Amino acid sequence: MDYLSAFGSKTFSDEVMREHLPDKVYRSLKDTSNLGKPLDPGIADVVAAVMKDWALGQGATHYSHWFHPLSNVSSGKHDAFLSISPDGRVMSEFSSGALVRGEPDASSFPSGGLRATFEARGYTSWDPSSPAFVRNGTLYIPTAFCAYSGESLDSKTPLLRAMQALNPQALRILRALGNTTSRQVMPTVGAEQEYFLIDREMYEARLDLKLCGCTLMGAKPPKGQELDDHYCGRIRTRVSDFMRELDERLWQLGIPSKTKHNETAPAQHEMAPIYQTVNIACDNNLLTMELMRGIAKKHGLSCLLHEKPFAGINGSGKHNNYSLSTDDGINFLSPGKNPAENKLFLLTLCALIEVADAHADLLRLSAATPGNDHRLGGYEAPPAIISMFLGEHLTDIITSIAQGIRPSLHKAQSLNTGVNVLPNLRKDSNDRNRTSPLSFTGNKFEFRMLGSSQNIAFTNVVLTTGLAGVFSRFADRLEGCKDLETEVANIVADTIQNHERIIFNGNNYAQEWMEEAQRRGLPNLRGSLNIVDAMCEQKNIDLFARHGVFTEAECRARYDVFLESFVKVVTIEAETMLQMVRRQVIPAVISYIGEVAGSLLALEATGLENPATRNHLETLNNYAQALHERCDALNDACHAQENLPNGLRQRANYFQETVRLRMSELRESCDALEVIVDDDKWPMPTYTDLLHRV
Ligand code: ADP
Ligand code: MG
Repeated sequence: MDYLSAFGSKTFSDEVMREHLPDKVYRSLKDTSNLGKPLDPGIADVVAAVMKDWALGQGATHYSHWFHPLSNVSSGKHDAFLSISPDGRVMSEFSSGALVRGEPDASSFPSGGLRATFEARGYTSWDPSSPAFVRNGTLYIPTAFCAYSGESLDSKTPLLRAMQALNPQALRILRALGNTTSRQVMPTVGAEQEYFLIDREMYEARLDLKLCGCTLMGAKPPKGQELDDHYCGRIRTRVSDFMRELDERLWQLGIPSKTKHNETAPAQHEMAPIYQTVNIACDNNLLTMELMRGIAKKHGLSCLLHEKPFAGINGSGKHNNYSLSTDDGINFLSPGKNPAENKLFLLTLCALIEVADAHADLLRLSAATPGNDHRLGGYEAPPAIISMFLGEHLTDIITSIAQGIRPSLHKAQSLNTGVNVLPNLRKDSNDRNRTSPLSFTGNKFEFRMLGSSQNIAFTNVVLTTGLAGVFSRFADRLEGCKDLETEVANIVADTIQNHERIIFNGNNYAQEWMEEAQRRGLPNLRGSLNIVDAMCEQKNIDLFARHGVFTEAECRARYDVFLESFVKVVTIEAETMLQMVRRQVIPAVISYIGEVAGSLLALEATGLENPATRNHLETLNNYAQALHERCDALNDACHAQENLPNGLRQRANYFQETVRLRMSELRESCDALEVIVDDDKWPMPTYTDLLHRV
């Protein structure tokens, strides 16, 4: 099969549905998935029967309600398509009930107190807007997951709710501007995914990588990314074999993987799919991450999706490219030939400027993970200050409109290399700004703060809910106005007046920007614990409640889940570090010290003096002493009951401020020893082994 005909062959695709479902059922299902109409329960029987036959034809024996609880990994139990008839015969079975509703144990997933252990019931419900697929003999049915009481315990439900909130408001804008044909507006998202590939054996030899996904110690290698020789460089055969298989598997699952290349750090790579409707993009990204891990293993590699696997080397992020599109293909952020007169474009731009400024806290929160704490603001990813890059041309257009001046016309420019045989190139109206957290890139905005391990859902919930709110107010103004042109200009002027501070076209890594941002009153919240409280701020609870995206209880639950998980992640890292140091590093160091001491004695017995070796021995011994002391300090920090505060919030702060500090002190001693201890004795692969041995 060629790659084009294999595309989507493992998904219950539009083509399969059109071919096998009765026309009426097909159209009804499409109205639900494409236009957000309520699902007609009457069609579930037919869909289940057709889906089962298709899945059996793909070799599936099981089905699974696939959902994304708040733990950040996807879940689902697997049931066989199997029943026994009254006369004892075995049959394949898949009822409409089994398609539409599942019942996992809700108390076994993070619920932030929404569910106690004894209140176990939870439900998954079929999301017909995201295609089912077959993988490893199981039919996966994308579902949403909620508690018995109806509260969402997953990442998908709020996203679907936000999409539902946005649609009518975006349609009001379209109608006010004279559009009578579009029926549905959906966010579109393309999620670029960064990752590391390292040798599997090296990975297996390090407990920190296996348990935490990142290294907890490791001296700076002689060669890191200094030479800028990895980005888009030649792809090594082993990596390229991995990438090829990944593409093939993604294409079979209908995931339009498009771009692949080496990233900045050694052993770092990126894949980007073609954008899709946001909920599908989100499911696809989660599936992509799962596939990356599995396929890497087959190739003797290990895929690291942690935000900061190696200190001192660029970490990995995820770029969330975002726009809005109608069912008939209008992109709200397409500037067209004359953006200054493109009302839909100007309004969407203004709406996003307002969202970025008014909800900067929530956007920042959406990129908060314990791993991303090590990455944001480290001159390798955007700083923790939210700002927006529009580029000079667009900034000029909206500031001119706001001042009632005619924007200067932008002439398409071409680029001449000075070489006759090379064609002149058409230049984009803007340069790029790689340092901005939220950057306009031609016909979409790119949010660059997300960490590579994250589920993209919450970022898109924030953008989409925010837009629903702003569009609703813009629509009120447009629907009641006398002159559209003037009202759009007024909206632009108001946006500039109230939110101009969020626009910044310069270098986000520069120290001057930190100072300038402070003057503008833009917060710089580096650690995730500095921003997590935003989830429970009244203005944000009100925003989400107003649009039916989260109830107050759901907001509080997510807040608790975040804090609990923060404490657990740091605890696991600290425990892992203690084990590695006590059971691997200290024994290796002691044994090496013994050898050096023995050699020195032998040397001195011959009457020779060797003060340098004696110094070396002393240095080793001092570090070894510090290693012991710092281990004890970290152990105390984690275990001495009198140290541990009671409340969850206080405990999280304590882990951030004290436990992480003890960890970095211990790391310092380890890393200092790594570079002076016998290579043969060092008990784990070094950064050079990990980064340069694929
Ligand atoms: P870049 O702008 O980063 O150089 P691309 O043009 O390939 O690269 O876009 C990056 C991502 O943005 C891709 O996943 C692409 O499909 C996605 N993208 C392009 N147009 C849109 C859009 N209208 N809405 C959302 N994502 C989009
Ligand atoms: Mg990009």
